[in-house]
Amino acid sequence: MTPNTETNDSLFARAQRVIPGGVNSPVRAFRAVGGTPRFVQRAQGACFWDAEGRRYIDYIGSWGPMILGHGHPAVLAAVQAAAQEGFSFGAPTEREIELAEAILELVPSMDMVRLVSSGTEAAMSGIRLARGATGRNKIIKFEGCYHGHADALLVKAGSGLATFGNPTSAGVPPEVVQHTIVLEYNNIEMLEQAFAVHSRDLACLVIEPIAGNMNFVRASLPFMQRCRELCTQHGALLVFDEVMTGCRVALGSAQSVYARALPGFEPDMTILGKVIGGGMPLAAFGARRAVMQQLAPLGPVYQAGTLSGNPVATACGLATLREIRKPGFFEALSARTRSLVDGLTDAAKAAGVPFSADCEGGMFGFFLLPELPQNYARVMQSDSARFNRLFHGMLERGVYLAPALYEAGFVSAAHTDADIAATVDAAREVFRSL
Ligand SMILES: *Cc1c(COP(=O)(O)O)cnc(C)c1O
Repeated sequence: MTPNTETNDSLFARAQRVIPGGVNSPVRAFRAVGGTPRFVQRAQGACFWDAEGRRYIDYIGSWGPMILGHGHPAVLAAVQAAAQEGFSFGAPTEREIELAEAILELVPSMDMVRLVSSGTEAAMSGIRLARGATGRNKIIKFEGCYHGHADALLVKAGSGLATFGNPTSAGVPPEVVQHTIVLEYNNIEMLEQAFAVHSRDLACLVIEPIAGNMNFVRASLPFMQRCRELCTQHGALLVFDEVMTGCRVALGSAQSVYARALPGFEPDMTILGKVIGGGMPLAAFGARRAVMQQLAPLGPVYQAGTLSGNPVATACGLATLREIRKPGFFEALSARTRSLVDGLTDAAKAAGVPFSADCEGGMFGFFLLPELPQNYARVMQSDSARFNRLFHGMLERGVYLAPALYEAGFVSAAHTDADIAATVDAAREVFRSL
């Protein structure tokens, strides 16, 4: 390797001249926490190294996909073999069938899936399908949940239930979000009112069942049960956005976690991404056959993609799913994540810092709040100045946490007990200085 004379600072300066904000996805810019983003040079196992050769224990894992850690040998071999055979054909391949079959086995609430290239695309297409299949226009979403950056989903709550939401991005005309109703997460009363008002106009309710885009907030069981009942009663589709939670919180995704407590529970449509691509651009949406048959070329709902079901991405996804299906994989991953969360909780307690944390499978969240928050407004009451000191304190000690207090964290199968212990040791020091 050629010696790198660049530093994170010099790279950031160069990047900002040619890429808006120096990054290709906003949260990477460290705007929430301040400071210079680390430019990653390479990664292996549970760690990555920045441009200055400094090593970090990685708790973002590409924001979820890297459930096996970086550079897993079986995945690497599958990707290299696929690359030799060709990058992209624009014609179908057997590997797409294999991946679809594997996904349907893991998430049996779907009969068919369509493969796409990003979670944004999957959520956008899934909602179009829900509208096409029901012949209705309105959708319900929740404050603090993220479903990618399609226009109709970049919206925050308006002033009342009967009013329209407001776009959260410039460039989104108010007309485009007029059919999007934004409600408070875990608020049953508001949910019931919305169904009463909009009833037969509702195409779907889209939800992150465990919301990882406001750190880590679970939909309560009564709330989830009510979502299911109301969708059924009013003929709307219950759409689970499991782009983050899919094959991450459990092999069967978050819906299997809810089905454990609510027997027979299932959503009508599932959006997947992140883990199913193992770090390559790959996502999917699926539902029962009657709904999926509305999709082109069978039905009237149009959807397409030049790189959809890409042969290298499907190889990466298949190899990843093969590993996570091995017996004991999720038990071990869950135990490791739990030990991290318990260690951080102890460290905070010893330092007298208000702290709450939760985890499921290989995903976790923590808050500088005495109790776990139930909705976005409460999440945002976290002490952000204190979080930023925590983030930078950990970063200086070689632990890379999500650079924003409203983002979840991820543990991979490559994180060792020693990695967890080193992280907790660092946290003990940092919490004492908060
Ligand atoms: C990451 C994410 C998306 C968007 O996926 P991209 O691949 O970034 O477009 C959608 N929904 C949820 C729940 C996500 O976490």
